[in-house]
Amino acid sequence: MKAIYTFGNGQAEGRADMKDLLGGKGANLAEMNLIGVPVPPGFTITTEICTLYNQKGREAVVEMIKDDVMKSVEHIEKLTGNKFNDPSNPQLVSVRSGAPVSMPGMMDTVLNLGINDEVAETLAKKSGNPRFAWDSYRRFVQMYGDVVLGMKPTNKTDIDPFEAIIEELKEKKGVKFDTELDVDDLKELVVRFKAAVKENTGKDFPTDAYDQLWGAIYAVFDSWNNDRAILYRRMNQIPEEYGTAVNVQAMVYGNMGNNSATGVCFSRDAGTGENLFNGEYLINAQGEDVVAGVRTPQQIMTEGSRRWAKLQGISEEERAAKYPSLEESMPECAKQLVDIQHKLEEHYHDMQDMEFTIQDGKLWLLQTRNGKRTGAAMVKIAMDLLREGAIDEKTVIKRMEPGKLDELLHPVFDKAAVKSAKVMAKGLPASPGAATGQIVFFADDAEEWASRKKKVIMVRIETSPEDLRGMSVAQGILTARGGMTSHAAVVARGMGKCCVSGAGTIKVDYKARTVEMDGKTYNEGDWISINGSTGEVYDGAVATVDPDLGGDYAAVMALAEKFSTMDVYTNADSPRDARKARELGAHGIGLCRTEHMFFEGDRIKAMREMIIAPDEATRRVALAKLLPLQRGDFEGIFEAMDGYEVTIRLLDPPLHEFVPHQLETMRELAEQTGRTLEEVKLICDGLEEFNPMLGHRGCRLGNTYPEITEMQARAIIEAALNVKAKGVDVHPKIMVPLIGVKNEIKMQANIINETAKKVFAERGETVAYKVGTMIEIPRAALVADQIAEVVDFFSFGTNDLTQMTFGYSRDDAGKFLAIYKNLGILKEDPFQVLDQEGVGQLVEMATRKGRAANPDLNVGICGEHGGEPKSVKFCNKLKLNYVSCSPYRVPIARLAAAQAAVEEA
Ligand code: PEP
Ligand code: MG
Repeated sequence: MKAIYTFGNGQAEGRADMKDLLGGKGANLAEMNLIGVPVPPGFTITTEICTLYNQKGREAVVEMIKDDVMKSVEHIEKLTGNKFNDPSNPQLVSVRSGAPVSMPGMMDTVLNLGINDEVAETLAKKSGNPRFAWDSYRRFVQMYGDVVLGMKPTNKTDIDPFEAIIEELKEKKGVKFDTELDVDDLKELVVRFKAAVKENTGKDFPTDAYDQLWGAIYAVFDSWNNDRAILYRRMNQIPEEYGTAVNVQAMVYGNMGNNSATGVCFSRDAGTGENLFNGEYLINAQGEDVVAGVRTPQQIMTEGSRRWAKLQGISEEERAAKYPSLEESMPECAKQLVDIQHKLEEHYHDMQDMEFTIQDGKLWLLQTRNGKRTGAAMVKIAMDLLREGAIDEKTVIKRMEPGKLDELLHPVFDKAAVKSAKVMAKGLPASPGAATGQIVFFADDAEEWASRKKKVIMVRIETSPEDLRGMSVAQGILTARGGMTSHAAVVARGMGKCCVSGAGTIKVDYKARTVEMDGKTYNEGDWISINGSTGEVYDGAVATVDPDLGGDYAAVMALAEKFSTMDVYTNADSPRDARKARELGAHGIGLCRTEHMFFEGDRIKAMREMIIAPDEATRRVALAKLLPLQRGDFEGIFEAMDGYEVTIRLLDPPLHEFVPHQLETMRELAEQTGRTLEEVKLICDGLEEFNPMLGHRGCRLGNTYPEITEMQARAIIEAALNVKAKGVDVHPKIMVPLIGVKNEIKMQANIINETAKKVFAERGETVAYKVGTMIEIPRAALVADQIAEVVDFFSFGTNDLTQMTFGYSRDDAGKFLAIYKNLGILKEDPFQVLDQEGVGQLVEMATRKGRAANPDLNVGICGEHGGEPKSVKFCNKLKLNYVSCSPYRVPIARLAAAQAAVEEA
């Protein structure tokens, strides 16, 4: 096994495509050498060695790689002419980690390794710059003490032990900046740092360069298993077994004086995607100084520098004098850097994020990688690269992160505004977007305030269907309880309304009309802002800006259309949602939840009347009132979806959801139906269920009260005939929920077909329609072959299917799922990302069995997973006909479907 790969002087044993073995940093350091970019020589210890280190322990690994490390150090020495561990002609190195995928924040870095008292003296003499030598030395002791010897603050309110010493000395000297410390001060810092290390660890600070090197190598390997690395991997689904590489490289110094500098740069703007080379640098500084925020970094290009100064309110004179660009201060190096960034972008065909150091007027590149970017930049950069001929159309699709499209579809917070906003709480990013408004706690207040043109955010412990109207007029919804498939989340996503749910730390007091967040009490009417894409809740009003859906966004979506084979439908309950979804590219409705239509206006009254009806005749009277209302809704939806299929699901929720809970409403209902309050109360009590989710809902309603199905089927068919007469190309699909037994769907299909026949006879006119079922009960998946014989289509309701396969309540699972994820019991929330291994098996099996029994069977999915990229890709693999998701997730699903098609091909 080859343990180490060397690079330097235009040669390298590794390559860019060896990221798994060399880590991203190591692979690109090798590649840069191969394409003639100046990179200090060095070597990379492979990720395989890290894995062995974790399996077999330190001794075994040292034994294995000791000779190779010595030889590789010699390789550096040969190229630089210096000697490691030789005080007369010293070579210092940097030691940096680098995993196969970038893990910002976990990376441990040690610079200036190989230095001790004698070496510092030599460096001072040779460079003629004692300040540089002792500054490098104190930095090394500090970094090594932190990264290798574990001298960190003991709790989160403590300041870093080394920074404490620096502060103490600065105070004593009466200076403000590190740069104001002189050589003697730096010498004193080294002494004090070492004393602190001895006191803390009980050991002398290592002076031998090889001891230092091995210590740093162990520390990098160990860092793979530190808490924050483990957490980061879990959050980003990075496999534990990857391991990190170790990069050891000859030091170049950005702190050698005013002809030296260090910086970070991007070949394009990572925020907007603009093709503008940009970045920041600091003169006479080292590595982390640029990001540390102690000194104000300067812009690399003059154009960027002028833009920056304008934003900062700095005059051109002051800018040019105090904060010149690199183009102005070191024009030769700047020109070379511009050429290199071009070269790297051309080579990698993507936006590059680079680190560089200038030592005494000579430019060196220390790192390059594909840069992280916003959703807007992702789209613009890919389309620009396509137009420039750097990548092809399929690569554009592959480059997209579908989830990031979210950022493009909703109003977004102004970047500068959000930076200075205070985060008061964090919940689940239940429905993306940015919202700002005044706090209200109740639906009727939301409506009332909204009617006075006030912007409100509805803050609830949790939401129920009775809050729907309040939610629809609010800018956003914030709840203390509930997960990603909670009522608030599902409804908000359907509306494209920003929502943060399950913000467990907020304390809502309905009585006092207050909510407490992070120690601050907010009253009704106070302003807050919520970010439904991150789950963050901010104090006060944070400015927002509108998204632009033309241009490059539209071009990317056109490519998605071109390459995808699976269709994308939407879940929509109103003509408005249907139109929105169509605008966003939906090719039909995969789920129209009719129960949502029963809550609007006075409809709930007729609905309640129906529910408490003592007999069929009374029930039919109430249903007759609902019929024209439903028919009207369906007509609107059919018109909005002219030419596309519309899947309407029969009534699903537990009966008791419609039952009034408040005395006031019960009294109203009593009056309305001519009963006593006592009678109404008794009926309502009788409808109460122990486990409503598993109770009298779905097709169980339609089979026990066939007249409900009759009414809904009639409303659908009549609406279809009405719009057909107007010239609308209508394709109704009638869907029965919660089937587990073949006879359940047989009976429902019977009622639907009989009703249609009747309506056709009455009208002397027909319309084609289809009858199908949700597959959302495990038993239905098991007997899918039997069920397929009596239906035209299946639609997987993966919300219920997940609930019933796992046995986790959709409404209560939030309480333990977060803990389960932290413990690593589950990698992901199965209500968000389809559990392919378990629930997915049922989906696969039901599709296979269903199609075997009925080759024409049309199969789709309409649970929340229909808009989640990984789940969409799974559906593509199973060759489903379509996925259906809430309107604002349609573009994400379209892109994921296209990606799946391109990747599978
Ligand atoms: C489902 O169960 O996945 C589904 C789409 O239906 P609902 O969420 O309305 O129960
Ligand atoms: Mg369901």
